[in-house]
Amino acid sequence: MNCPYCNSENTLVIDSRENKGGRAIRRRRECVICKKRFTTSETILSDDFFVIKKDGKRELYDPKKLEKGVFTAFNKLEVPVDTIEKVIRLIEDEIKSGSKKEMTSVEIGNVVLSYLREVSLVAYIRFASVYKQFQTKEDFINELDAFR
Ligand SMILES: [Zn+2]
Repeated sequence: MNCPYCNSENTLVIDSRENKGGRAIRRRRECVICKKRFTTSETILSDDFFVIKKDGKRELYDPKKLEKGVFTAFNKLEVPVDTIEKVIRLIEDEIKSGSKKEMTSVEIGNVVLSYLREVSLVAYIRFASVYKQFQTKEDFINELDAFR
């Protein structure tokens, strides 16, 4: 695991915490070179993760769909690709770190929104408008109010 700041391979684990019933471990690391600290997360990955769609259908989780949705939300915004990829990793970590083998598309959408709002209001609103299927100007305004 390389240091995200200076890319050094030399990092030390300074704290380790197990959560979600032993299915995930978070490690606090310190870079030996630049001394900065960061957190890594290890998770048991299950290949059989399902998404329950709004119509009740179950489909195999497809990480490409998440990637596409998030990249679309950041389209033409001045957010570095590195940051977008990091957000996608965090979202995936969170989705897959639980003991659940399935999630509804609504739950996944909420996880995505909780991360997007940390990075960009525009990306957040764009994603929300697709995922919550905004129909009117009021839908946007309500969402903006909720954001504040
Ligand atoms: Zn470093």
